[in-house]
Amino acid sequence: MKVFNSLTRCEEPLKPLADNTVRFYTCGPTVYNFAHIGNFRAYTFEDILRRVIQFNGMKVKQVMNLTDVDDKTIRGANAAGVPLTDYTKTYKDAFFADLKKLNIESAEMYPAATDHIPEMIDLVQSLIDKGVAYKSDDGSVYFSVTKFPGYGKLAHIDFDNQRTGARCAADEYDKENVGDFALWKAWEESDGPVGWDSPWGRGRPGWHIECSAMSMKYLGETFDLHTGGIDNLFPHHENEIAQAEASTGKEFVKTWMHCAHLKVNGEKMSKSAGNFFTLRDLIEKGWSGREIRYVLVNAHYRQGLNFAFSALEDARKSLSRIDTCVEALEKLAAQTAAADAPEFAVKALEDFSVAVNDDLNIPKAFAALFELVRHANAWMQGDAQPAQAAAVLDVFKRMDSVLGVIFFGKAEKADVPAEIQSLLDQRAEARKAKNWAESDRLRDEIAVAGWIVKDSKDGQSVTKK
Ligand code: AMP
Ligand code: ZN
Repeated sequence: MKVFNSLTRCEEPLKPLADNTVRFYTCGPTVYNFAHIGNFRAYTFEDILRRVIQFNGMKVKQVMNLTDVDDKTIRGANAAGVPLTDYTKTYKDAFFADLKKLNIESAEMYPAATDHIPEMIDLVQSLIDKGVAYKSDDGSVYFSVTKFPGYGKLAHIDFDNQRTGARCAADEYDKENVGDFALWKAWEESDGPVGWDSPWGRGRPGWHIECSAMSMKYLGETFDLHTGGIDNLFPHHENEIAQAEASTGKEFVKTWMHCAHLKVNGEKMSKSAGNFFTLRDLIEKGWSGREIRYVLVNAHYRQGLNFAFSALEDARKSLSRIDTCVEALEKLAAQTAAADAPEFAVKALEDFSVAVNDDLNIPKAFAALFELVRHANAWMQGDAQPAQAAAVLDVFKRMDSVLGVIFFGKAEKADVPAEIQSLLDQRAEARKAKNWAESDRLRDEIAVAGWIVKDSKDGQSVTKK
């Protein structure tokens, strides 16, 4: 499998350093609010990446951090008058619920920044000891970018023309303002009760140090792969490299991968621009997690993707075309053991495999899947046999081990909005009480809202009209 490495700006084979396991760090959410679907473009890209690695027979150890202390979380907690941990818990829980809805596989670990303050203090201290970091008058600690010769290698910064040398306390800044960045921030009035004691006084870690400390703790001083959205490349990832390599003297990460932004009307979707949708916004509007996933993954990850509701409508149609074919195959196969797959299915899987291994070309992979749908539909009109149908189904399953949009074996393919679920619960009660008139009335009410109820021996299920 080949991927584009942002560090070398070349496509390169992705081969694990050890144990046939790709050790892989992904910058996770800042848990101060609900994540928006722009953030989920990054997390679905990383999910596809881990699934393609596994598709190729390698194992994955993925660590995703949770940023649960920074300017935004502190501001939110203090404004709400609740402890920081209570405030961030709401959004951590929401994040995990959203991952599930989008069928994103769990990472192996989700370390939280506030559980790793001692590791961060140790790393900052080692940078001071090595002479690349210094304490400022207010008790903060800064990394001195001129002391680390490799600074700028990821973002390819031309220092002679761009460097201003100013010191920067904020976590985020642009390439035109490269300067010494904060490793440790001295406590300020606005931090309220949030703070930890350190050799430099009370304060809190900078954002960048958290990822260097936690990634090296769980993945080693040199590991295979590090990813994020393209906005993380500078300064965040550049600073992670500086902190880690200045401290260990070793190469930090072999391969860096970044996904392009999800946009709205050509502009990056972001909380600050106010042009965002959260997952729950879209689910409330009647779209399902799998439809949203379909839209997010069906574009090349290095290309900008403009969000539009028409794309969700297309996703609904495309998924329904896949579902119809898969359901017909399931009926035909009827639990028969698989024989050899017909030629068209073998070819589709080959094309699929070439596409995903070519720097995750998911649009091309979907084209292979739709070729399979087209051929399978035509083939089922003829002399298709159950054992071969089972083999074709296996090919769909193999493809979906990467795409994750078919939801094999999942009872509900659509996310049911809360009000529909409440009507379903009332209907279940009515049926338990053998109140058939009320059950029928509720079925009609659910139908008016756009959902069809089916009853079976396992209870009721709903599908979107
Ligand atoms: P944040 O919570 O802002 O640190 O972002 C979490 C992840 O989402 C990071 O990997 C970001 O690069 C990514 N991200 C934020 N906005 C977008 C967007 N509009 N499109 C794609 N990725 C994004
Ligand atoms: Zn990070």
